[in-house]
Amino acid sequence: MQCRFFEEQLSNDAPLSVEQRQKLEAHTLHCSSCAALMTTDETLRRAHMLSPADGFVARFETRLALWKAAERRRKLLGIIPFSVLGFALLLWLAWPYLDGFLTWQAQPISVWLQWGAFLLATALTSLRASLVVLGVLANFLTPLLWMAAISGAAGLSLISSISTWRLIRASQGT
Ligand SMILES: [Zn+2]
Repeated sequence: MQCRFFEEQLSNDAPLSVEQRQKLEAHTLHCSSCAALMTTDETLRRAHMLSPADGFVARFETRLALWKAAERRRKLLGIIPFSVLGFALLLWLAWPYLDGFLTWQAQPISVWLQWGAFLLATALTSLRASLVVLGVLANFLTPLLWMAAISGAAGLSLISSISTWRLIRASQGT
């Protein structure tokens, strides 16, 4: 008759009070159904408290590391076809130049000049790129550079005024 009440009490996660517990235990003495339910509940509660088996964390970490390594390998394997494809594309695009390079000894002077212009353009582009990099660096070094420039200018003007004075003295023959 009270089974429904005890079933609800047991299915509830809240721990039982001493009084509730005593009533339940009294009931389970003559009710096998509720007794079984109580045993199940206790087992489940105990299972919640169990910590993972010894070495579980280590095993898990090892497996995770293995999985990560496999993932990295998979990514790398994915990169290789792309790199090969990219290289092939680059080769295909650069082939006219490369072909010219390979046979350039047989070419007239105009091709040499073209190559020279090409190399010069490349050099200028890299120079511009390095100037950009230098500009970025200069942003960091600006105060230092200004100090150096100002003291350098001061030193130069001092030297030039001394040498001018000497020159004037020398020309005056004294
Ligand atoms: Zn019962």
